[in-house]
This record gives sequence, structure tokens and C-alpha cells, in this order.
Amino acid sequence: MTDDIKTDDVNGSSEIPPEQMSLRSKFRFKCHKGVKCFTKCCRGIDIMLTPYDILTMRKKLEMSSEKFLAVFTDPQILEKADMPVVTLKLLDDELNSCPFVEDEDGCVIYEDRPTTCRYYPIGVGSLSYSGEQGEKDEFFFTVKESHCEGFEEDEEWTVAEWREDQGVDLRDEVNDGWLDLMVRKKSLPPSMQLSEQAKQMFFMVCYNIDKFKTFVFESSFLTRYQIPEDKIAEIRADDVKLLQFGFEWLKATFFQTGQEKFVPHKESEKS
Ligand code: SF4
Ligand code: SF4
Repeated sequence: MTDDIKTDDVNGSSEIPPEQMSLRSKFRFKCHKGVKCFTKCCRGIDIMLTPYDILTMRKKLEMSSEKFLAVFTDPQILEKADMPVVTLKLLDDELNSCPFVEDEDGCVIYEDRPTTCRYYPIGVGSLSYSGEQGEKDEFFFTVKESHCEGFEEDEEWTVAEWREDQGVDLRDEVNDGWLDLMVRKKSLPPSMQLSEQAKQMFFMVCYNIDKFKTFVFESSFLTRYQIPEDKIAEIRADDVKLLQFGFEWLKATFFQTGQEKFVPHKESEKS
């Protein structure tokens, strides 16, 4: 995730100015049950959920995406892009705990924890983003919070090793389509803003995958475009593919990019 789509408060407040790091940069860190601060970082935090996070968390919890959104998220507007995002809804307890943290055991959804939790204590920023070429000018930094004792431990990582260990590569690959939409939206001149209806469509595709699935397969959607049969079978069987298909559709609809993948049926009849 990059700071293009993370507000400072969502990202967790860094109390020391971040030093820019590359994938090869090294840092010392280890988090385990023996640290005195165990689970402190899972309270009083703002965590923005990515589309991929919602896909996996709702599956783990055996909930529909609609119910997951209602129970576990708060809707927000990402100011920089003026686009809807969702954050994890914290408990109304003294420490504003994450609903998934337990004092003794830590994270009860550890295998499916959100991307932000995986990256921690690494933050990601971007100097620029070239969505067309799929190139990102990323940099990394450590988020050092005073309560976190993980930096006192002696295990050493490069940023690349940490990313691999935390399993963020696939997540980033999928979420890149979402990031691309945010960056494109942010770059629009004030005279070309998206309508409220368009933003609602964005919300459905990115965060409410079950509703988007119903929209694709139980409305006139598939009669409007020439979508190859194998593509239809693929997105019917695989929610990650459906999500990526949704990103492509939004990109073509909102930003007129990649429209060749969504040729209207009537155009084909003319040719
Ligand atoms: S504050 Fe740091 S060391 Fe402590 S539990 Fe959280 S990540 Fe681990
Ligand atoms: S999802 Fe898990 S790792 Fe993330 S804040 Fe909640 S308990 Fe902690």
C-alpha cells in the first residue's frame, strides 16, 4: 500500500520522521508473544482496508461482504482523492481495541490479517505512479512508535525479505488496480469530477464483492458488453479475478482507459 491511499492517521502516526528505505535496506525487528508491548499496536489504531483484505476477511469470517461491511467497517472519504474507503471499526472499549485482538493470543485472524497489519512496522510511500506502465516509484520507511519494542530485538531483515515473509506481494498485485483508480481520480482536474453515482459504483466494486457479483451476473451487465466466455467463467469462479475485472471496468468507464475490453454489443453488431 502506498501513502497515496493511506492518510497519516490511517497509517499510524510515526513519531520519528521517516527515513527513506529501498527494498534492500535493512532493519532490525521481531514481534512475538514475549514482548511487553504484545498487542499494544492493535488498539487505538486506524486501519484502512484494501479490497483484497475484505475479500479474505469476509471469507475467513464466513460472512457476506455486505454483512462484513456493516459489522466491521466504518465508511470514510479519502480526502486526497475524494473517494470512498473503509476502515476497520474498533471496539467501543477503553483502548479502542481491534475486534480481532485477544490479550493472550494476539490476532485471531492472523492468517487473514489486513495488508496494513502485515506491512507494519514498514510503511510504503510513492514518489510518483505511472499506472499506464504499471510502474511504481515506491519507497519504504519504518513506522517507529514509542510503545513498540520490536526494534530492540536482534532479528535483521531487508524490506524485500519482510514483504515476502508477510505475504504482501499477491495482495499488492491485486490492490494495484484499486490504487490505480485512486491515483487517476486524484489527477482529474476539478472540472472533471466523478458523480455520486460513480462513487457508489466504485464502492460496490471495491468493497462489496458479493453485491458486484450479483450486479454482473443477475442484471443486464453481460448483455451490454462482448465479454469472452472463458473470461465470464473465470470471474464467476474466482472472486479475485472478479475484483480485478471490476477495477478494469471502472477504469474503462471512468477514465476511458482499456475500453477495448468492454466493447458494447451494439458496436459489434454494426461491424
Ligand atoms: S507494538 Fe511492536 S513489538 Fe509490540 S506487539 Fe505490536 S508490532 Fe509487536
Ligand atoms: S487485524 Fe489482527 S493484527 Fe490487525 S490490528 Fe487487528 S488484531 Fe492486530
